[in-house]
Amino acid sequence: MPVEHDVRRSGVEKWNPEESWGGESGAVAPRRNRELSSRGALAITRPMDQDGSETVLSSVGSLASEVVGTAVSVDTSSVGGNTICDGFGSFASEQPARAEKAGTSRATAVNSHAEPRRRGPYACTVSTPKIVSFYVFAPLPDPEAIRLWQYAVCDALGLRGRIIVSGHGINVTVGGELGPVKRYVTTTRSYPAFAKLTPTWSTGTGDDFPRLSVRTRAEVVTFGVPDEVTVDADGVVGTGTRLSPRELHELVTERGDDVVFLDGRNQVEAQIGHFAGAVTTGAATTRDFVPILDSGALDHLKGRPVVTYCTGGVRCEVLSALMRSRGFGEVYQLDGGIAAYGAEYGDDGLWSGSMYVFDKRMSVDFSDHTELVGRCSECGRATNLVANYPDELGRELAVICDGCLKGLEREHPDTPFASAVSDPR
Ligand SMILES: [Zn+2]
Repeated sequence: MPVEHDVRRSGVEKWNPEESWGGESGAVAPRRNRELSSRGALAITRPMDQDGSETVLSSVGSLASEVVGTAVSVDTSSVGGNTICDGFGSFASEQPARAEKAGTSRATAVNSHAEPRRRGPYACTVSTPKIVSFYVFAPLPDPEAIRLWQYAVCDALGLRGRIIVSGHGINVTVGGELGPVKRYVTTTRSYPAFAKLTPTWSTGTGDDFPRLSVRTRAEVVTFGVPDEVTVDADGVVGTGTRLSPRELHELVTERGDDVVFLDGRNQVEAQIGHFAGAVTTGAATTRDFVPILDSGALDHLKGRPVVTYCTGGVRCEVLSALMRSRGFGEVYQLDGGIAAYGAEYGDDGLWSGSMYVFDKRMSVDFSDHTELVGRCSECGRATNLVANYPDELGRELAVICDGCLKGLEREHPDTPFASAVSDPR
C-alpha cells in the first residue's frame, strides 16, 4: 500500500524539481527570475520605494556569462542596501564598484528619483540544498573528455560530490544549491548519450561532500570484471528484468515466498536496512561479488525468482547481468533501487531500516517510524548509525551506537571516528 509521508523526514523525494517550480522551490526561484536567468538578460523591475516607484536593475554581465551552458552564480551582495536572490545567484544594483570588480557592466538605476530612499538590507536566508544521483550505461568512446567536461561544469556551478566515468557510462552523485544542480542536470543531458538520464533528488544539507571528485575508471562500478560487461546504446547487455516498486509488489503477490531478495550492497549497508528476508552476501566491497558468485555460495537460488537491489540501482545493472551469465535463470533488478522504493512505499512495505548513503549523511530514513534493524558492533544495542571506524580489526565503516562511539572518541581523541555520522537517536 502506498503511503503518504513527510518528505522532509525522508531523505528521498518523489517531488521532482525539474517538473515543478511550486512548493518548496517556488519561494526561492520565482518563474520570472528563472526566465530572466535562462535567457541571460537580467533586467528586473521591482518596487524600490514605498511610493511604488520602480528601479530597473540592468544587465549584470557576469551573471549572464555562459560557462558550458550554465550561468555562473555570484555571492549574495548587499547593494545600495538591497539584495535580491533568485535561487541561481544574486542580482545587484547601485554598486558600480563591486559590479565592475566582478567584470560586470555598470548597474544603472533609471527611476525618477535621484536619491532613492535607502532601506536596510534583507538577507537572502533561503537555501535549498539538493543532492542529485543518476547513472547512465552507454558506450563512451572518450571517457577522459567526459571527465574534463563534467569537472568543468560542476566546478563552475560550485557543486561537490563524486562522478565516475568509464567507457561503459557514468555514475553521479553531486550536491549543491537547487538552481546550480538543476543546471548541471540540464547541461549533462545535452550530451546525446546522457539525454535520457533519470535523476533521483534528495534533500541535502549544503555540506554533504568534502570535495568534487571526477574520475575515470575501468568500470562504472568496480566489480573487477570490466571485460565481462558489455554495454550498448540500451545499457548493459543481458541485465536482469527491471521492476518498478509496484511491479515488485505484484511479483511478490503472485509468487509469494518463492521470490528471494539478494542485497547487492556491502555488508555494512545491509546491516542497517534491507528487504524482508533478503539474502546478504557479507561482501566487504563490490569486488567481492564475482568470487562469491563463482564460489557457488548462491547456487541454491538458481531455480528461484531473484530480485537484486542496491541503493539507486547502478550496481544491480551489472550484478544481475553477471548472475544471468552464470546460470541464474530468473533475475530481476529493482529499478531505481531502494531510493525509488522508499520514496513510494516508505517504511510501510517490504523494506525495513535505514538506507546507507555515500555522503556525510551516512544514512537516510523513509519515514518517522523507521525500524532500527542495525546492531552496534561493540555492545549489540539497536542502532542505525554507521561511523568511520578504523580500528585494530581494519574496519573502515561499522555499525556503532552513539554511546559506544562517544566512548571511543574519548579513548582515542585523535581518531576521526565520527566525522560523518548522521543524527544520533
Ligand atoms: Zn554500542
